[in-house]
Amino acid sequence: MSRARVLLLNAALGPLDYRVPHGMTVEPGSVVVAPLGPRQLLGVVWEPEAMPSDAEVGDNRLRNLLAVADVAPLGAPLRRLVEWTAAYYLAPPAAVLRMALSSTSAIEGARMMVEYRATGEVPLRLTPARAQALERIGDRQGLIRELATMADVSEAVVRGLVKAGAIEAVSADIDSPYPVPDPDHAPPALSADQQAAADRLAADVRARAFAPTLLDGVTGSGKTEVYFEAVAAAIRAGLQTLVLLPEIALTEPFLRRFAERFGCEPVAWHSGLRSTQRRRAWRAIASGQALVTVGARSALFLPYRNLGLLVVDEAHETSFKQEEGVHYHARDVAVMRGRFEECPVVLASATPAIETRQQVALGRYAELRLPSRFGAAEMPAIAAIDMIADPPERGRWLAPPLVRALAETLERREQSLLFLNRRGYAPLTLCRTCGHRFQCPNCTAWMVEHRLIRRLACHHCGHAEPTPRVCPECQGEDTLVACGPGVERIADEVRALLPEARVAIVTSDTVWSPAKAAEFVGRMEAHDIDIVVGTQLVTKGYHFPNLTLVGVVDADLGLEGGDLRAAERTFQQVRQVSGRAGRGEKPGRVFIQTHQPGARVMQALVTGDADAFYEAETEARREAGAPPFGRYAAIVVSAEEQSAAHATATAIGRAAPQTEGMHVYGPAPAPLAMLRGRHRYRLLVHARRALDVQDLIRAWLGALDWPPKVRVSVDVDPYSFL
Ligand code: ADP
Ligand code: ZN
Repeated sequence: MSRARVLLLNAALGPLDYRVPHGMTVEPGSVVVAPLGPRQLLGVVWEPEAMPSDAEVGDNRLRNLLAVADVAPLGAPLRRLVEWTAAYYLAPPAAVLRMALSSTSAIEGARMMVEYRATGEVPLRLTPARAQALERIGDRQGLIRELATMADVSEAVVRGLVKAGAIEAVSADIDSPYPVPDPDHAPPALSADQQAAADRLAADVRARAFAPTLLDGVTGSGKTEVYFEAVAAAIRAGLQTLVLLPEIALTEPFLRRFAERFGCEPVAWHSGLRSTQRRRAWRAIASGQALVTVGARSALFLPYRNLGLLVVDEAHETSFKQEEGVHYHARDVAVMRGRFEECPVVLASATPAIETRQQVALGRYAELRLPSRFGAAEMPAIAAIDMIADPPERGRWLAPPLVRALAETLERREQSLLFLNRRGYAPLTLCRTCGHRFQCPNCTAWMVEHRLIRRLACHHCGHAEPTPRVCPECQGEDTLVACGPGVERIADEVRALLPEARVAIVTSDTVWSPAKAAEFVGRMEAHDIDIVVGTQLVTKGYHFPNLTLVGVVDADLGLEGGDLRAAERTFQQVRQVSGRAGRGEKPGRVFIQTHQPGARVMQALVTGDADAFYEAETEARREAGAPPFGRYAAIVVSAEEQSAAHATATAIGRAAPQTEGMHVYGPAPAPLAMLRGRHRYRLLVHARRALDVQDLIRAWLGALDWPPKVRVSVDVDPYSFL
């Protein structure tokens, strides 16, 4: 090949053609360095048929490729995945490709890298910044930049510490191979149900064909143990496995469990990795040496050399939906990757999404069921507390039956979990005298009080300010009141009611790294904690045998806003968190506090009749033409100037195609009318399933122009309606 089409890592550009200089060989998938103006960019050689270019350049005007990277070419299945993802989610192919080439140091970096760590020596001049740096860095190691971020100091401070001898350079071991998991290390004796499911999945792995399966089992039924047998089959065949988890916080317990079963940890991939760790993982994945990878959704686009199995654990979780950049759903893309790689895909869940159940109903996915908990453990009994008939005391949030249950559980030296999906102390602060409410200056959102750090913070943009003592509006002193509860406030209430209880708050504010998660698990297992107050971070994955009581502080919360999945999501969330209770030999109890005990979803939770609930929800969706029976796509227009956003949104609305089976709603101000200082308008496209909405939207928006300061983003199959 003397001419090559290259997809560069620049989302604004289409593919470009280059000359392959004499002596260089490339093939589709080769990672190359190409000139662009005065710059050099990474790119990947692509089949010209699959990536049409609208600017064909004559041979004589081509520029030379500069280099081929020392990594294996990206495989054809991954290239097809990049194309499919870009087309389906209406994203630039280069933006998708960037997720595959997600470690530049793996591709370009030198083989040796220098990292830094503390020597233990204390410098003569110990400024507060230096002290903070040494304390926060502890025994961790990383690049100067990474240490500075860890410690929240400038790079100059870290460099100063290097000069002072308190931090030293070490060469990092970046290309050493990972240990190979042993499929026979410690296999469990499976129950008959489990064995049957495991045999099926292992056979699918050996067949090396696309085979999507829903592994549907109640929490604690052993889904993990079952898919581990499929992982074992893949390891025996020398094939790679990817296990996707919905949250980084679940990585740590997973790593430990995996190591108990297979004798060593798998490769972890998440946003918390250091540059050297990323490099090592990326290269081992690309070479095929890393046999099992566990990661968050970004692991989905890595260049596995010979993928033999994909597992999406907690597959119903909405955090698999990426809400920034390329708006993709990792569960759905995982299934497509399995299709291109021709390997099985296991979607494991105790509360599968209606979309997934529908695929089973249509016969596209197989289903394996694990109907009961493993061993002696029983599913916990769920009771609703009617907050109108049995309200908490004034100024409190926990109703008497839940308080009694907490006291009894503490008495028995067992553990409890209170679930409330709200970080901080209170979701709204207002002035008692003048009624002033604290709103974020950048977003249509109230500032949330965080009492532990004495700040008001916006959960949308991160804006934070010290909690004032004086009302900025009327200058009243000590007139501010907190409205509504967050986890911190519930924790205070528990401490006041049960002073002897040891209470821990678990949210992304307190458990923000795998190490923190490990610390939390350790404290739970050592029974250093009696009562956990937590957000959705604690609803899944964890297995604490001594945890026997779960209280859902506000089961109505998820129904607010009322988007199409509100009831389903509430059902899933409460079932998940209930699944934390009674996982050992001791039976569990669950209380859900609600103002609507008669609502269908609350009834379904109490009776445990999931099938009836799903059936009714599915029918309601069918009637409304909502997913999975119809499709939605959201178009969000934003700009710093409201008039600019409005003008573009209006123009897009006017140009909407008139197509049978498709309806466009809006534009209207988005519920989050302002976000990070940008005004937002939304249009919602609702279409019949059979319609090619992507093509329609491409043609529609493609014919329009808007000023560069206006951003238009398309969200196909949206999960957020804000
Ligand atoms: P799920 O993923 O369905 O919630 P897990 O796989 O986490 O369930 O299993 C719940 C608990 O039961 C775990 O501690 C697990 O180790 C244990 N368990 C499940 N199946 C077996 C088995 N066959 N032998 C021993 N322990 C098992
Ligand atoms: Zn904000």
